[in-house]
Amino acid sequence: MSYFRDNIDAMAGYVPGEQPPPGAKVIKLNTNENPYPPSPAALMVLRELDGERLRRYPDPSSAAVCRAAAKVYGVPPDWVLAGNGSDELLAMLFRVCACPGRAVAYPTPTYVLYRTLAAMQDAECIEVPYDEDYNLPAGGLAAASAAMTIVASPNSPSGTVAPRSVLEELAGKLPGLLVVDEAYADFSDENALGLVEKHANLVVLRTLSKGYSLAGLRLGFAVSQKPLLDALAKVKDSYNVDAVACAVGAAAMEDQAWKIANAEKVKASREKLAAGLRRLGFAVWPSQSNFLLARPGDGEARRLYEALKQRGILVRYFQEPRLDDKLRISVGTEQDNAALIGELTKLTGPRPTSARQP
Ligand code: PMP
Repeated sequence: MSYFRDNIDAMAGYVPGEQPPPGAKVIKLNTNENPYPPSPAALMVLRELDGERLRRYPDPSSAAVCRAAAKVYGVPPDWVLAGNGSDELLAMLFRVCACPGRAVAYPTPTYVLYRTLAAMQDAECIEVPYDEDYNLPAGGLAAASAAMTIVASPNSPSGTVAPRSVLEELAGKLPGLLVVDEAYADFSDENALGLVEKHANLVVLRTLSKGYSLAGLRLGFAVSQKPLLDALAKVKDSYNVDAVACAVGAAAMEDQAWKIANAEKVKASREKLAAGLRRLGFAVWPSQSNFLLARPGDGEARRLYEALKQRGILVRYFQEPRLDDKLRISVGTEQDNAALIGELTKLTGPRPTSARQP
């Protein structure tokens, strides 16, 4: 006898990447945080926050965040819904869409949380594999005809992007919702935001965790046409975004210049890091995000992950089919990346660039 629903007993919980305590002496390249600090203007709002804002409940509609996002991204404010990170918005989408008999489809490998959220709802997952080059399996996703289809673009852990034209065609074919999870869009040349206007079944998710360097704040938002957001709002916690996140997040969005300058630095470092890894014999997927998927020449990713950890460098290793011979490496500062390449050179030795590059 169990106290819990059968599907909860049967499922495994999501395991987040390791988060060492603040101040720990590690080079942290495992959970795709931005290596640069948040906007000084946003930090000023945090420092000057009036205690009165905390005594009272926050605005249940997070209007300041919606207004800021609407201005920056050129959509009406009522096409924006804020959440406690984009993870919460994903959870709300699963609550409104997924249950036994209403399946969720997504290409794999991708963000493992989708599988966890489906298990919570006891909903079937239709997992459609990407090919080796991570081209979106749009035909398979369309054929699945799921109640909800999710595409992370840029995808994690590959960093690859689904072309907007392919997403548009898919949105037109699907009977259910198409969620485009754009957590990493701030580092990408392409996004699907402009499609929301044309497709009533499309939701785009954004976060302030990556581009805006605010992973600790927990703020994300969904953009879609209003009827869809009205459904999502029914299943959200009343005060899902706290007063600090609302004020600081809105200020961060108003400082576009800061975000863009940091994203440019990350993108330049990404290309340099990819070249460094290729020189060491790694195959590196073309990334439009702030991380790289890289396969060492000998496929001994686990050994490298553990050896790097011993040397104070955290990268991500997934014990999952198709990923257990690869590492996902967040792009750090130039100094972090140089330290990583230095340790990897010692661990692998310089190799000829013989690996087939995806
Ligand atoms: N989507 C993807 C693809 C991610 O990698 C992440 C970060 N783990 C998220 C969504 C969630 O981001 P957050 O909840 O910090 O907004």
